[in-house]
Amino acid sequence: MNLRAYAKINPGLDVTGTRADGYHEVRMIMQTVDLYDEISLEACGGGEIICSCSRDDLPCDDRNLAVRAASLLVKQFDISSGVKIRLNKNIPVAAGLAGGSSDAAAVLIGISRLFRLNLREGELARLAVQIGADVPYCLMGGTALAEGIGEILTPLPDLPECPIVIAKPAVSVSTGYVYQNLDLAKTEHPDIDGMQRAIGAGDLPGVTERLGNVLESVSEPAFPAIREVKKNLREHGASGVLMSGSGPTVFGIFPDCAAAECAADELRRSRSDLEIVSVTRPVKRSTVNDYHTGEQLDDRRQTQ
Ligand code: ATP
Repeated sequence: MNLRAYAKINPGLDVTGTRADGYHEVRMIMQTVDLYDEISLEACGGGEIICSCSRDDLPCDDRNLAVRAASLLVKQFDISSGVKIRLNKNIPVAAGLAGGSSDAAAVLIGISRLFRLNLREGELARLAVQIGADVPYCLMGGTALAEGIGEILTPLPDLPECPIVIAKPAVSVSTGYVYQNLDLAKTEHPDIDGMQRAIGAGDLPGVTERLGNVLESVSEPAFPAIREVKKNLREHGASGVLMSGSGPTVFGIFPDCAAAECAADELRRSRSDLEIVSVTRPVKRSTVNDYHTGEQLDDRRQTQ
């Protein structure tokens, strides 16, 4: 079984408080983008979970979120068969793009299909949150508002089509470090309600003028490349720029594809400190869903 695990960006990210258990309360606008890891799953003998990965800096044991997702289902549903997981990573790691969470979500869906577990959406979401706060959103995909610790989801209408350039400086940002150093009293909070209204009205300029992420207040001073790449994208014609998640990936929304391609070329040419520069676009929830259910791939096979 072949699956796609899509990356996300956050056009809006607010932190509204800290819970007694140490988790932060968030209000985030989530958006799937057309950058994905490729995962293949196969039932095998031996009763073990065997993982291999295209990146040798990622562990293939229980520290890998894809393996953790598989173990959770195997234990919960007494699956006696083994599972082989092959991860082809295209999403940069520790980038603010939820690559690990997305891999976990795809594996949850893939294993439930492979072993015909017939899990309902709510059941999958309850398992997903045990792996990570972003995993329930990755099951859903598309445009959504995520609240609570990220697990309370409201689907929103699809973001209007637009070219997006994403660029990741080659530095690692620890999400824990960023949240620990966040001073909510000193940060400006983004207008998440206004952005939600703009998305509802299909008003892309209304979205770009409200782009905001409270975590920039920690990540930008710690990693100057974030501020520099935002400036570069703005200078090359982006209508709006922002850091995604806890960073360091930065994205810019562009008025047209030619401007986006031109900005990406310019970044690749002028900066050697970027791990990835990619022109992408928003992906609709229905497309994510088709890839999760296998319909998109089956359609392809039929036309081949
Ligand atoms: P978020 O936006 O949810 O904070 P992120 O993009 O910052 O996510 P990930 O790429 O998901 O971060 O990686 C975070 C950590 O998870 C890394 O330290 C990495 O070692 C670990 N990890 C475990 N499994 C995976 C996986 N399958 N893919 C990527 N990272 C993984």
